Amino acid sequence: MRKGHGVIEIRISGLAPGRHVETFTCRATDFSEPGLTDPAFSGDIHVTVELDKSDREIAAKIVTSTVASLSCDACLAPVRQEITGEYGVLFRTGDPEEEGTEDDEEFRSLPQNASALDLTEDVRETLLLSLPTKVSCERYPECLEDTATTGSGDETDVARSNWQEQLKGLKHKFD
Ligand SMILES: [Zn+2]
Repeated sequence: MRKGHGVIEIRISGLAPGRHVETFTCRATDFSEPGLTDPAFSGDIHVTVELDKSDREIAAKIVTSTVASLSCDACLAPVRQEITGEYGVLFRTGDPEEEGTEDDEEFRSLPQNASALDLTEDVRETLLLSLPTKVSCERYPECLEDTATTGSGDETDVARSNWQEQLKGLKHKFD
């Protein structure tokens, strides 16, 4: 079992059919996952899971929101931005062999006796996908222009502080 599982877990044994909403507040460090220790996720992460349970299916809709600490692609100025993500998963109980194979990628089979849904991995991915690909402050006209190019966050932290000094006040495009 991987570390980080069980952060977002919903008990489903005895859950009545119908709609249920669960909310969680967590931190990136709860996930024990390198991708989420990114400084972007330094604040509280709010997760809402809406379950819609019927006879043999449970539809789970995940909504994440957090205020991310980002930096402008062009001038590297800090930018605080609320980001939200959404993801849906459909669970089906029973033996998957009986169901036949279906081409629904979001479909997941759930053992008949499952007592909980572990959505930790799904929430983690939702959070990662909710990161904006382009970040711009509105301090300089260049910042807004440069968002047309792909911002790269690949430089290492060590390199970053050097670059940060050199790039300040320069028109620069990260490619
Ligand atoms: Zn900027």
